[in-house]
Amino acid sequence: MATDERSVFSRIIAGEIPADVVHDSERIIAFRDIAPKAPVHILVVPKTESYRDVVELAAGDPALLAEVVATAQTLAAEHSNGEFRLVFNTGASAGQTVYHVHAHLLSGHLEEGTLAH
Ligand code: 5GP
Repeated sequence: MATDERSVFSRIIAGEIPADVVHDSERIIAFRDIAPKAPVHILVVPKTESYRDVVELAAGDPALLAEVVATAQTLAAEHSNGEFRLVFNTGASAGQTVYHVHAHLLSGHLEEGTLAH
């Protein structure tokens, strides 16, 4: 696959683009969002390129989705008070811009009732 066809997250995983990585395990990487929308805004990203969004991930590898959630909980405890919002933008009209499945972990004094990240 040509470099320009790969997602920005694949390039971060490959070490081609720098990122503030806070977690790196066999199947998951997590790094701080470049444009944070909350005091803690971390992207939790499966390393596989197989799934474009959370619907595909849930159908294809539910154990990996569960690992994303568990990783988010651990990171929320490490970087905040353990309470968090987990957002999966799915589709362009819902705000998805990177088609490599990822969760937005948001934590730290979020506005009540605000669902947008
Ligand atoms: P989406 O809009 O697809 O749900 O989320 C993509 C997220 O990736 C956005 O919040 C955006 O700020 C973040 N992002 C895009 N490019 C980069 C990058 O090069 N580095 C980091 N750390 N985050 C990025």
